[in-house]
Amino acid sequence: MEKVIGLKCRECERQYPKEPLHVCEFCFGPLEVDYDYEVIRKSISRESIEDGPDSLWRYSDLLPIDGEPTDGLNSGFTPLIRARNLENALGVNELYIKDDSVCHPTLSFKDRVVAVALSKSKEFGFDTVSCASTGNLANSVAAHAAIANLNCFIFIPADLELGKVIASLVYAPTVVGISGNYDDVNRLCSEIAGVYPWAFANINLRPFYAEGSKTLCFELIEQLGWEAPDHLILPAAGGSLITKAKKSFKEFHLMGLIDEPKTKIHVAQAEGCGPIVATLKEEGDFVKPVKPDTIAKSLAIGNPADGIYAVSTVRDSGGEGEFATDEEIVEAMKLLAATEGIFTETAGGVTLAVTKKLIESGHIGREDRTVVGITGNGLKTIEALDAKVEEPHIIQPQLNAFKKLMTTLE
Ligand SMILES: *Cc1c(COP(=O)(O)O)cnc(C)c1O
Ligand SMILES: [Zn+2]
Repeated sequence: MEKVIGLKCRECERQYPKEPLHVCEFCFGPLEVDYDYEVIRKSISRESIEDGPDSLWRYSDLLPIDGEPTDGLNSGFTPLIRARNLENALGVNELYIKDDSVCHPTLSFKDRVVAVALSKSKEFGFDTVSCASTGNLANSVAAHAAIANLNCFIFIPADLELGKVIASLVYAPTVVGISGNYDDVNRLCSEIAGVYPWAFANINLRPFYAEGSKTLCFELIEQLGWEAPDHLILPAAGGSLITKAKKSFKEFHLMGLIDEPKTKIHVAQAEGCGPIVATLKEEGDFVKPVKPDTIAKSLAIGNPADGIYAVSTVRDSGGEGEFATDEEIVEAMKLLAATEGIFTETAGGVTLAVTKKLIESGHIGREDRTVVGITGNGLKTIEALDAKVEEPHIIQPQLNAFKKLMTTLE
């Protein structure tokens, strides 16, 4: 028996075969992977998972590939850190950082989704992979394509951070910078995908790609001793990670691996690009696109593909949506570094700033078990801290010069 039945429309539930498709021909709803959970339940257990590889592929029973995984074999099982210093700083008793800025080849959670998308694209027989990206996805697709010897085309907004651009170029794909924002890039890529027979990780392979996000939550549940936390705070760009968080909790429960999860899923966005949070705050029924203006460029998607599903995920879980200003983002990046020694990118600043606000507003209780998802590495967005940290003290190479400096520091 096969574990993946095919694809299914999220809206009208019409079924589709296992193919590189992503929208329903009838209602234009997004397609999702449809599993046969009865089949999976027969082989999955806590023990089978614990005996698996120390990578995201330990959850391959719940991932949509048919054969053995061929990509992202060194990715995942990232640290879950008990953040004692941060607990003191924020006045809470049980706070964890899920640090997805390390233990991935390109230092962001996007290596999870790309591991699945590229394994799948090889099963489909594509020789060229591509993506529309706000930066991290570009880095990841380019790196994985290099390993797999695939042709690679990367499409990004032309004004991305230098670190993100170079961390794509180094793998020697074709990088195309678009004069416009991510939503312009994405629109162009949808047109290109209709003409060129390529695997676009987040367009025609999106149903498969998105499933990779689940592994972040699978891991943290396992790392908490097979328990779901009370609160999970995650950032949102296209909204896929948020919706898959809920799916991962549901699936682990369905497979009998955990008790019924009661996790409140909270969504963090920048004030300069927060269409999902705005919809939650306004109690709206649809997501109004916005024009992004924020230093959190990795989250700067003004028209999120999974926006309304992210909204209902948060709402159904009893969670909140909250914004962070650019200034709060920088403060939170510095706080995480100073307390836990973790240098996160702007997206992590958004997530921690929002966590702090939710604690202050009482939405996260001081005794609650809380996990903060840190999804990317700070070395890729150093310009966000330019002139926002202390300058080095420049001195002559003489002991006297150092002593003189010391008197000024006292
Ligand atoms: C892409 C990205 C996200 C959010 O992903 P979505 O699934 O599109 O909401 C979060 N953090 C970082 C660092 C990212 O690059
Ligand atoms: Zn449909």
